[in-house]
Amino acid sequence: MILVSACLAGFRCRYDAAVAPDETVVAWVQDGRAIPVCPEMLGGLPCPRIPCERLPDGRVMAKDGVDRTEAYALGAQETLRLARMYGCDRAVLKARSPSCGAGRIYDGTFTGTLTEGYGVTAAVLMQNGIAVEVRE
Ligand code: SF4
Repeated sequence: MILVSACLAGFRCRYDAAVAPDETVVAWVQDGRAIPVCPEMLGGLPCPRIPCERLPDGRVMAKDGVDRTEAYALGAQETLRLARMYGCDRAVLKARSPSCGAGRIYDGTFTGTLTEGYGVTAAVLMQNGIAVEVRE
């Protein structure tokens, strides 16, 4: 079983409530091969919501200056729980997200600038032996 970002599966869970499905990921879910998860909503954040970015020190800040680190940490732990429950050893996540991104994420300045780094959930999954790859 593959854990996938719910927004890649076409769920309306992005910060802007837009729908942006990836056809391959949707097919995996329809075939029963993947479980869709949105860490930010599992962490208790609403949809739509004010966008957040991860700072170099690991905190996650919303664009209005509110510290959302706790919600992101909770969402990551709940996502890990689901991954274990479903026996996932692989995750296919949305690129650049402060939760799901891996390798390159936005740098915390809200200027569209990318930097090396990992979203909170992607990092937790990797630390627990789950292989993470990203899709645009
Ligand atoms: S990138 Fe991750 S946290 Fe953001 S909407 Fe998609 S599934 Fe949710």
